[in-house]
Amino acid sequence: MFAELPNTINDFQTWDWAKIEPYFKALEARDLTEANVIEWLNDWAKLNFLIGETHSRLYVGTTVDTTDEATEKRYNAYLEDILQPTNVAAQRLKEKLIASGLKPEGYSIELRNMRTEAELFREENVPLFTQESKLGTEYDKIIGAQTVQWEGQERTIAQMKPVYQDGDRSKRESAWRMVSQRQLADRSALNELWQRFLKLRTEIAGNADMPDYRAYRWRNFLRFDYTPDDCARFEDAIAEVVVPAATRIYEQRAKRLGVGAVRPWDLDVDPLGRAPLRPFSDIDTLNHTTSTIFHKVDPQLGDYFDVMQREKLLDLDNHKGKAPGGYCTYFPVAQRPFIFMNAVGLHDDVQTLLHEGGHSFHAFEASKLPLYQQGDVPIEFAEVASMSMEHLAGRYLTQAEGGFYSEADAARARIEHLQSDILFWPYMAIVDAFQQWVYTHADDAMNPDNCDAKWGELQDRFQPGIDYTGLEDAKVTGWHRKLHIFQIPFYYVDYGIAQVGAVQVWRNSLKDQAKAVADYRHALSLGGTKSLPELFKAAGAKFAMDADTLREAVDLIETTCAKLEPA
Ligand SMILES: [Zn+2]
Repeated sequence: MFAELPNTINDFQTWDWAKIEPYFKALEARDLTEANVIEWLNDWAKLNFLIGETHSRLYVGTTVDTTDEATEKRYNAYLEDILQPTNVAAQRLKEKLIASGLKPEGYSIELRNMRTEAELFREENVPLFTQESKLGTEYDKIIGAQTVQWEGQERTIAQMKPVYQDGDRSKRESAWRMVSQRQLADRSALNELWQRFLKLRTEIAGNADMPDYRAYRWRNFLRFDYTPDDCARFEDAIAEVVVPAATRIYEQRAKRLGVGAVRPWDLDVDPLGRAPLRPFSDIDTLNHTTSTIFHKVDPQLGDYFDVMQREKLLDLDNHKGKAPGGYCTYFPVAQRPFIFMNAVGLHDDVQTLLHEGGHSFHAFEASKLPLYQQGDVPIEFAEVASMSMEHLAGRYLTQAEGGFYSEADAARARIEHLQSDILFWPYMAIVDAFQQWVYTHADDAMNPDNCDAKWGELQDRFQPGIDYTGLEDAKVTGWHRKLHIFQIPFYYVDYGIAQVGAVQVWRNSLKDQAKAVADYRHALSLGGTKSLPELFKAAGAKFAMDADTLREAVDLIETTCAKLEPA
């Protein structure tokens, strides 16, 4: 019967659960043997791909046109009517495969993941996840409703961002203070929402017989290659090695701005008073130039990008009705990635496209694996693919190489990027250390005052270079403004780890670009079939969270920036 499954998504998209369910039943009923287990896994994968691609395409539909209510309705119905029963049916298939004791070739990582997921699954948690995502929606509503009156116009907090690039310091300060005041007006609402999140998460962990939510989340995220203790050591190493380097950046910034210390409203303005970079004025230029850059990095990667252009798998320009942000998703039946973003002509847009391009190359490379091995790539390595590409493409940003910029502007873009890497690690450390504390001190963390105190303490430890004097309330409520803490708990250290990998890939490319790119492509082609240390190693990097590796990264970044500095 699986041979009759549609080969394209078109015929499958309208299938309801009554039509899909018999396939799961058939998989469940089949006797598993050494001889047929691969076929069984491939059949299951085919079914998953059809469901997954329908889900992805509906999601894309909701983001390219947020006013399309019919698609939104179909998307929500798909979550409930198809994905929820699919998850329950998948749980039974996982249990069946584990009980069979069979160990299909090249499938050990997937089996390990499956076993963990099956052990953690509790039917009584399913409605709690729905409650949790509803709380997430409430968070979005509170944040989304925050606006200020600026120069006679109502502006969202995101729309205020450009003002922080203004050369007029007092203008920046009044904008910042106005935004901060508006955010603090929601302090008690967010505190109350927080308590509901925490209570719910404690319950989810308890249902799964885990000692605390951190232990739950660790398994839920399939983190086998590092522990919470490793994260604590990572944070110590960041405090020792990266924080002093970040402070040097803030001090240089203060000096160039001619101010005593960097205040929160001084972080986005160009310290040398230059106008923002304007790499392109139309999407065609963004497309062509990025294609040229990718071809320079590697002809095959350039070809992948051109396939995406030809097959209309890029939705890059910003227009009314589009959802904010950028992402790369995957259509597993078509075996094609899709990139979404909101380009308006800034360097950030170039950076985003290089980043999402890295994700899309991962999809192309990993789709060469046999169907049944095309599982999920761990996020810590998925971000190595994207962040490395931002670096690998860095040397081709100049017009001489076919890129966007003069030599001077390219150097400026590189410095900004490299410095942002250094500034990110300490912030990541705050976010992670805060959550480590929260979920191991859930009783204390039920009192938002304690959370404020903890955040303030971490802020002092990891970002001493930013002067918050007289801004205590804004400082200690920083956790209110980190979406991940509310909506995707513990999802953040992953970026810090990935960045360690990406800097090493870049380091390799400075010695031998061709070999670095070849290793990078090979590592991507392994998909999720290897452990994190093996994936990093294949990419030519060490999976590491220690001070020595960080020191090497920071030294390289600082020496490179010094060379790129304008004379
Ligand atoms: Zn990414």
